[in-house]
Amino acid sequence: MSEETAVVHRVKSTNCASCGKLIRRKEMYYRNGKYFCGKRCFKKMQEKMAQEGAGSAN
Ligand SMILES: [Zn+2]
Repeated sequence: MSEETAVVHRVKSTNCASCGKLIRRKEMYYRNGKYFCGKRCFKKMQEKMAQEGAGSAN
């Protein structure tokens, strides 16, 4: 008996790449392959990345 397994396509909850907050679909802000809870967090992340890039801690 081959029973077809129903593939449940669950939408993975997305967290903000900047603050880690769970993002609602409505608030989703997608930029550069990352999700943010808002434009503010996107800007925050950009600043952080720019600092890391300039500082080169490694
Ligand atoms: Zn955020």
